Amino acid sequence: MGSYEKIESALIHAGYENDKQTGAVNVPIYQTSTYQQDGIGEMRGGWEYSRTGNPTRQALEKLIAELEKGTAGFAFGSGMAALTAVLSLFKTGDKILLSSNVYGGTFRVLDKVFNHFGITYSLEDMTDVEAFEKKLTPDVKAVLIESPANPLLTITDLATVAAAAKRHGALTIVDNTFMSPYLQRPLELGADIVVHSATKYLGGHSDVVAGLAVVKDAKLAEQIAFIQNSTGGVLGPFDSFLLIRGIKTLAVRLDRHTENAQAIAEWLAENPEVSRVYYPGLTTHPGYDINARQAKNGGAMISFELTEKHDIRKFYKSLKLIALAESLGGVESLVCHPATMTHAAIPKETREKVGITDNLIRFSVGIEAKEDLIADLTQAIQNS
Ligand code: PLP
Repeated sequence: MGSYEKIESALIHAGYENDKQTGAVNVPIYQTSTYQQDGIGEMRGGWEYSRTGNPTRQALEKLIAELEKGTAGFAFGSGMAALTAVLSLFKTGDKILLSSNVYGGTFRVLDKVFNHFGITYSLEDMTDVEAFEKKLTPDVKAVLIESPANPLLTITDLATVAAAAKRHGALTIVDNTFMSPYLQRPLELGADIVVHSATKYLGGHSDVVAGLAVVKDAKLAEQIAFIQNSTGGVLGPFDSFLLIRGIKTLAVRLDRHTENAQAIAEWLAENPEVSRVYYPGLTTHPGYDINARQAKNGGAMISFELTEKHDIRKFYKSLKLIALAESLGGVESLVCHPATMTHAAIPKETREKVGITDNLIRFSVGIEAKEDLIADLTQAIQNS
């Protein structure tokens, strides 16, 4: 920790002190796979091989650990690689409880990969914590939460669920992708592990695919370091550099992202052509109070549905500024169609049961002028 107190400063300074040799203010890209040893077992500074450790990646890992108020961070080649490493902590017979709406890829890796190893899962509504606690049977070894969840922005009371999980000996894993440590820090609320698709707000410019994990506990840190080195899904030096560069502007970007999102959510909520709006920054959102307690604001993801007379295919086709694309969290606004894109891996029946309808539109609000975004939405709604 340097001589600063606020996260806005940590975003810029944490994890790296100017290069000892040259004074370089940015971490150099150590584009090397290996390091010369001065003799057998005589490694300079402990650097051995870049799967095990790389100085650029290490700067990023220290940075995210400090931002999330953890003790150790780990960087991976994607958010899914980070989740896979974390899920590799579990063994045959273990069960994981998932928030009822999660990213489709998280569902898929449990449903189609970890089930081969005898690790089971179930999707649970965590909004009623008392009912949820009954699901914490002895075989449950972890609770995996997204809050806000992808794509319905459901809010889970992180502190209460983490405390319940702890009482039953289960770990709490929070996917903090939608918030980032600038808006929400789950480890401070009692979670054990935070994961990120750093592809999103942390990278922030839609130019890097990356994942991060952070823990507080030393034993967990040791286990994840072992898994990271053994399974090898590490982030390369150049992508680590891009991520550090992105993180420096997280606070200013998110201030604009969330100001735009709040204004657009309020505009959508008053629009007679819109039948539903999901945004945790609206006081009408069922999770508004909990979110306001545990996060800085409602974030910058909105989901909504148009009234029945609209053809959503025409809506997507008519957008001129906002692009139809997978992903979120970049400076540019993107929309996606969860049912056929991000959540296509979830069977239609399960999807509809949790509320991910074929009419749902997910909007990642960028940092363009909000007037331009509203104008684009207005004409696309009119043309649908
Ligand atoms: N978690 C969430 C909430 C996501 O939205 C995504 C991707 O969209 C992932 C994890 C997976 O991350 P990645 O695409 O970087 O593998």
